[in-house]
Amino acid sequence: MTLTYKDAACYELFRPADGVVLGRIRRGVYQVAGEAPCTLQPYTGTVCELDGRLAIKLRSAGVLGYLDGLQVMTDEGECLQLRQVRRPADWRSLDDPDAYRAFRDFAMFLEESGQARPRPLELKLAAAPFDPCPECNDHYGFAEDCPRCSGRGFVPEI
Ligand SMILES: [Zn+2]
Repeated sequence: MTLTYKDAACYELFRPADGVVLGRIRRGVYQVAGEAPCTLQPYTGTVCELDGRLAIKLRSAGVLGYLDGLQVMTDEGECLQLRQVRRPADWRSLDDPDAYRAFRDFAMFLEESGQARPRPLELKLAAAPFDPCPECNDHYGFAEDCPRCSGRGFVPEI
């Protein structure tokens, strides 16, 4: 299962060759390493969509690199990597598993009955600190007996 970048989450950008952490991304805001955690000003760049792809766009000018899953390819051909890290404990999100399950079920019900999902529901689900279970992928029939997620269909993101 390929890990995908989530706008609501936190990441470290590091160079796989030597493990050096180059910067961090919090809720789509990129800051080079060594600066105080995200006060938003000053920041180094943002993660945004450019030419149909996600990119780390620098505030000064140019693009640090384009995302492919959690890999970041720079223009110089260097392959960097994002590693998801814990969100600050005081960030508000849909972190109650039972509430998250209820929202997911409601979203699935809307989809299966051909109704559009309201945008606030989409945003709430996308911002929740959970990922689909890598074992059963919340598949009906597999999730119930899944030892990885205990039947929930999703797991904590970290
Ligand atoms: Zn599972």
